[in-house]
Amino acid sequence: MKEPLHLLVFTDLDGTLLDHDTYSWEAAGPAMDMCRELHIPIIIVSSKTRAEIDILRRKMDLSDPFVSENGGGIFFPVSSGDHTPPPDARLEGDLWRWSLGAEYPYLVQALREIRLELGWEIRGFSDMKVDEIIALTGLGPYEARLAAEREYDEPFEIVRPLNPDLSVLRVAAAQRKLSVVSGGRFFHLMGNCDKGVAVRKLIYWYRGLSGRRILTIALGDSENDLPMLKVADCPVFVRSRHQVPSPVKGLERIRVTDEPGPAGWNRTVLEILKNSGI
Ligand SMILES: [Mg+2]
Repeated sequence: MKEPLHLLVFTDLDGTLLDHDTYSWEAAGPAMDMCRELHIPIIIVSSKTRAEIDILRRKMDLSDPFVSENGGGIFFPVSSGDHTPPPDARLEGDLWRWSLGAEYPYLVQALREIRLELGWEIRGFSDMKVDEIIALTGLGPYEARLAAEREYDEPFEIVRPLNPDLSVLRVAAAQRKLSVVSGGRFFHLMGNCDKGVAVRKLIYWYRGLSGRRILTIALGDSENDLPMLKVADCPVFVRSRHQVPSPVKGLERIRVTDEPGPAGWNRTVLEILKNSGI
C-alpha cells in the first residue's frame, strides 16, 4: 500500500491569494473549500504583519499556522487544536509566537544609518504617517494601521536616486547582518530569515506531528517568494498583470499560472489536488 500523503499549501498573499488591486480572495474560493474538505492546511506566508494576517485568516476561516513579515515570525493559533507548538514558541493571547527574525527597533536604526551612509532619500514605514501608507498601498485607514504594526521587517521605498544601485544597498545591509528583498510594492529590510527558512521549519514541525510523508505546494508572485518556492515539491509562480515572470535558476520545473492572482491560484491548486490522487 502506498504511504498516505500529508499535503501542505504554503501561500503568499498580495498578488497571489489576494488580487493585487482589490485584495479579494474570492476567485480562489473553490480550491480553498476543497483544501478545507480534505483537511489540507493553507499556511499563509506573507510580508504582512501578524496583526494583518491574523484578521485575514479569521475572515478566510483558517486556523492553520501562518508566517508573518517575510519569515520573521511563525504564529500558531491556539484554536488549531491540540497540536504541540515548538518549544521555542511563546504564548501571546490566542497565538503561539515563534520568532525567527531580527527585532524591529534594530531594523529602524539600521535603515537610518544606511540612509545617511549612502546619501539616498529612503522612506521606511517608521518614517511615514498612516495617511502616507494609505496613499502608497491603497489600504483603508484601519488596514494601514495594522500594516504599521511591524515586528521583524521594515518596508521602505527609495525616493532618490531614481535608478538606485541595489548591490550597494545590499552590502550596507549585510554589514549590519541584515538583508534587503524586493516585494510587490516595497523593498524590505530584515534579518537573515526568509520565507524559505520559515517554510522548512514548518514542514519539519508537521512531519513530527503526522509522521506521514509530506507533499508541499507553494504559491507566490515576487522575488521574496523564491526561497519558499525553492523548498516546495510543487512550486507555483502566480502570474501578475504587471510583470511577466523570467526563468529562475533552480526553479526550472516551476508551474506558471495562466491567470493572475486568486483565479490562477484556484485553477492550479485544483489541478494539483486532482493529479495528486488525494
Ligand atoms: Mg506577493
